[in-house]
Amino acid sequence: MSTDHRLLIRAAAFAAERHRHQRRLDQAASPYINHPIALADVLANEGGVDDTVVLCAALLHDTIEDTDTRADELEAMFGARIAAVVLEVSDDKALPKAERKRLQIEHAAHASREAQLVKLADKICNLCDLLAAPPRGWSRQRKQEYFDWSARVIDGVRGVHPRLEALFDSVYARAVELV
Ligand code: NDP
Ligand code: ZN
Repeated sequence: MSTDHRLLIRAAAFAAERHRHQRRLDQAASPYINHPIALADVLANEGGVDDTVVLCAALLHDTIEDTDTRADELEAMFGARIAAVVLEVSDDKALPKAERKRLQIEHAAHASREAQLVKLADKICNLCDLLAAPPRGWSRQRKQEYFDWSARVIDGVRGVHPRLEALFDSVYARAVELV
């Protein structure tokens, strides 16, 4: 087996272990790990992305933000590049929510290509989830605000991957129409 395959499987196993007690916000409280796997699936199978750094960062993208995982742990296990991309896509949880959301918009345009691809997949997957299995208790207005904020983040990464960008636009159009 290639080194890239081994690294990918290790990233999936590591994320599954770190997110093992977490659930998504949908009615069924789906296992959290479904979400990082969905990002890697969209990147590889909708976007044709075969860069192991991007695919591993997608699998690991919420480990720093949502678990007690540290960047130096990721660096030791997956290397400096993957750890750096995960850090780039992680919000600083010490900041107030509104500030974090504003910073995502500001940072997207200046992020690395790898981080922009992970962001694009993250927003595609979260919009799909909002359509198919939305968080419990979210009003139409709250969903609409989330769609519009996501679109503003994605405006900063336009050009990085036209096919995935078109997929985001089609999910956004469906979301705005249905909600
Ligand atoms: P949250 O950040 O609380 O929740 C959205 C995040 O939850 C997503 O970005 C995603 O993050 C994760 N998630 C988990 N399950 C799902 C799912 N099934 N579908 C989609 N996403 C899921 O919400 P907001 O982004 O709205 O941020 C909260 C802000 O909203 C605050 O500023 C608060 O003040 C405001 N607010 C607004 C209300 C309104 O009615 N407009 C009401 C209450 C609060 P990930 O990719 O990291 O998993
Ligand atoms: Zn995510």
